[in-house]
Amino acid sequence: MKYIIVGAVAGGASAAARLRRLNEHAEIIFFEKGEYISYANCGLPYYIGDVIKDRHKLFVQTATSFNKRFNIDVRTTTEVTGIDPSKKTVTALEQTTGRLYEESYDKLILSPGAEPIRPPLPGIASEGIFTLRNVKDTDYIKSFVQQKHIKKAIVIGAGFIGLEMAENFHDLGLDVTIIEMGNQILAPVDFPVAAIVQQHIRSKGVDLRLNVAVTGFSKSKKGVDVALNNGETITADMVLLSIGVRPDTRLAVAAGLKIGNARGIWVNEFLQTSNPDIYAVGDAIEFGNPITGQSMITYLAGPANKQGRICANNVVLGNVQKYHGSINTAIVKVFDMTVGTAGTAAKHLKAANINHIVSNTQNGSHVGYYPNSKQMNIQIAFSPDDGRLLSAQVVGYYGVDKRLDVLSSYIKQKGTIYDLIEFEHGYAPPYSSAKDPVNMASFVAENILLNRLKVFYWNELENLGPADILLDVRRIDEFDAGKIHGAINIPLDEIRSRLGEIPKEKNIYIYCEAGLRGYLVQRILKQNGYRYVSNLSGGYNLWKNCMAESRRAMVLQD
Ligand code: FAD
Repeated sequence: MKYIIVGAVAGGASAAARLRRLNEHAEIIFFEKGEYISYANCGLPYYIGDVIKDRHKLFVQTATSFNKRFNIDVRTTTEVTGIDPSKKTVTALEQTTGRLYEESYDKLILSPGAEPIRPPLPGIASEGIFTLRNVKDTDYIKSFVQQKHIKKAIVIGAGFIGLEMAENFHDLGLDVTIIEMGNQILAPVDFPVAAIVQQHIRSKGVDLRLNVAVTGFSKSKKGVDVALNNGETITADMVLLSIGVRPDTRLAVAAGLKIGNARGIWVNEFLQTSNPDIYAVGDAIEFGNPITGQSMITYLAGPANKQGRICANNVVLGNVQKYHGSINTAIVKVFDMTVGTAGTAAKHLKAANINHIVSNTQNGSHVGYYPNSKQMNIQIAFSPDDGRLLSAQVVGYYGVDKRLDVLSSYIKQKGTIYDLIEFEHGYAPPYSSAKDPVNMASFVAENILLNRLKVFYWNELENLGPADILLDVRRIDEFDAGKIHGAINIPLDEIRSRLGEIPKEKNIYIYCEAGLRGYLVQRILKQNGYRYVSNLSGGYNLWKNCMAESRRAMVLQD
């Protein structure tokens, strides 16, 4: 058997190593157009930011070590320029010599990844404008920053990589501006979660500009001038373009392989393309999303690596293992905060016409009496029909990763919020509370489903009529420090003795800091005959973040 793999980083390297483990005697050839194989592209921003100091640590394997360990013929700086599926050959271009040659295969695996989008804007080729995808880009950026003594950087695009780069530039002492065309950062998360992170980014002195697009670049004496669609021009020493990637389907298209609706390489459940002898994995493929059923492209290292393994099993053993799709679990560090997402965000559920309820909860990362406990927000979306968990977004300072991974597992296994209620965790004061924040999120969701708790959301406050009562149940000092306009204050512990002040026939909208006290008041009022009582999901804290961010957008629009 002779196997060829195109692309030698995440998906490709994983597939190659597995192929060898399953078939010691096969001939395996690995083509990589870059200089390096199996390197840690997820670590590149941290190498630029000097968090990772030793460049060698980025290389999980070298061509020599991979060859030695796996007996695989690794051909770096060699680009596969064509595939002839009828002859079962690839054409390869040895970049150092210019030699073009053919190589035959029995089975071919494509893992060419994705390429950064560089829109054809005026001046895009100016010196000092970078994209970040591989080690070569990294070396360029790092030496540019060091040699030119860069003081100011503009990051265009506030996705995962853009934010990681903004943080790393900032930590190097650069003055950083982020330009984002959308109305929020991190497109996969919902606005309230993004708003919390946006406020955090601003608190670090980063100039975060939303709802504004770049119209062109020009080289100036001071560096690069970036023209914006609001008429402004801002100047920086360098620009990092991080506005997204697109699947590299060039080889697949030229070979006549089927391309799907999301413009990725189409594969079946065995990761086999429309040609049975060619498989494909990673950023270049599209696959049905397990929640929406819609075909989508996942640009994440975890799925690429796991697909590489599954694909190799199918190549060697004959379509024995199905791939079930990715729920796009992703996490990013943004300065001191961490934000993670799994499943389908509420806005995307809405767009896909999937019925859902959203709930926001806020709890300590661990018990408050043990040092360094910090609040963590969990937003979940679940089905009103059977409680199936559809998405989770977690943002906070400590322990976000473990909560995200727990929630992600439940989503992936089609678990419900009822399953989550019984989620059992290891508890000791430094790690959690006897009821973990994940449990708390499910308790609130269950209360909503059982109609014990009715919630309203931060953006529904504007719908309140003059006859409605907005009731703040926090302590007086909290109320005095900041409140929602029009609210009356009766602290939770005084509610029972002051019921007479709350008219029974009116609609009562309650809020507290995070949601818990509001829920307690709601239970008291409901059991005292109040007709309509609703509690602000995520409380005053979440409302404050969302309002700060939406007001800022409104001011800019005016
Ligand atoms: P890649 O790993 O990109 O490998 C594709 C390889 O194919 C490339 O080396 C390319 O040179 C080669 N190639 C393409 N065409 C040819 C050809 N014709 N001939 C020969 N070789 C070819 N994901 C996460 O989950 N978490 C993170 O924290 C994270 N951080 C990231 C940070 C950065 C800066 C970047 C760039 C990506 C990050 N990602 C992260 C995304 C993750 O790296 C990708 O999802 C993953 O590497 C995709 O694997 P792949 O095998 O499809 O493609």
